[in-house]
Amino acid sequence: SIILGIESSCDDTSAAVLKGNKILSNIAANQKIHMEYGGVVPELASRAHQQNIIPVVNQAFIKANIQQNEISAVGFTRGPGLLGSLLVGTSFAKSLAMGLNVPLIEVNHLQAHILAHFIDDANPKPPAFPFLCLTVSGGHTMIVLVKNYFDMEIIGKTIDDAAGEAFDKIGKIFGLDYPAGPIIDKLAKKGDANSFNFNKPKLDAYNYSFSGIKTSVLYFIQKEIKKNPVFITENLENLCASVQRSIVEILMQKLEKAAADFGIKEVAIAGGVSANSGLREAMLKNAEKLGWNIYIPKFEYTTDNAAMIAMVAKLKYDRGEFADLSVSATARYDIEENFKKNF
Ligand code: ATP
Ligand code: FE
Repeated sequence: SIILGIESSCDDTSAAVLKGNKILSNIAANQKIHMEYGGVVPELASRAHQQNIIPVVNQAFIKANIQQNEISAVGFTRGPGLLGSLLVGTSFAKSLAMGLNVPLIEVNHLQAHILAHFIDDANPKPPAFPFLCLTVSGGHTMIVLVKNYFDMEIIGKTIDDAAGEAFDKIGKIFGLDYPAGPIIDKLAKKGDANSFNFNKPKLDAYNYSFSGIKTSVLYFIQKEIKKNPVFITENLENLCASVQRSIVEILMQKLEKAAADFGIKEVAIAGGVSANSGLREAMLKNAEKLGWNIYIPKFEYTTDNAAMIAMVAKLKYDRGEFADLSVSATARYDIEENFKKNF
């Protein structure tokens, strides 16, 4: 099969062509406009998707060397995400599927972050079921027990901010651009991770909280700035390294507990924050120390991309799970939800 995948849930417009399990193209237009505002502005995101979607899809076909009429189906992100953004991809996917007379396939964006591990060049070998997937992105942080492709159970999640959100908000305190996650990661490499300590949450089970560390950093910075107005500039690399260490420790502690309690050694990470080098190192360490078989996505499959959408669409294509043309985008879309139940 040849599948076109379309992703437009947040601020990246992306299109990818998948042949079998192999990605032929994965094009993304990132919206720089939001940097000026320190976060994604929904109205601007929607408008930028409208401008980008046709050139991005055309580019995906050209790079893949595939003609439009060769595709077997169109897959698109139905949710979760910003409604105005999702609508652009959804409408486009519908018209294209209708025009080409091929099946339309709806995809849950979060399932896609996880199932990106099944793209043929994502891993030397795909994870074996059941596996645990720490899904960490700009909007979500959760430990998912993946029993099968579409049989997922959330065993723990954040009660407030997502890990990516914590990186971004703390970065904002440091005066860094949005999204701050990748910038903190880069600066952290030159800093000493043990320079500063920030409060860690004490939560039961496998749940997370990241609003505490954000507040802890804010108060600490406010206090230090009173003594030294250039405290941040003088300590930026050490601050970034210490924040990154703390967030990674919080993430890994619960993941280790879950892996031990469930007796699972197949452990994956997914979502934008899985690009983080500190998190990747911690996973590698546990592969040695705890004998985990780890699955770390290739960089281009971590943040929002259409390759992962095409991958899920292919899995559904093989099962004949097609969407009706009346399907609508949905801002909320639980990872445990089965699409068919909604109709
Ligand atoms: P969701 O998938 O929950 O709907 P999203 O699609 O906005 O949210 P992603 O694109 O998956 O999220 O991830 C974006 C997030 O990942 C941002 O918060 C960004 O700061 C963070 N991020 C990206 N790269 C890194 C990195 N190297 N280190 C830390 N955080 C990172
Ligand atoms: Fe995402």
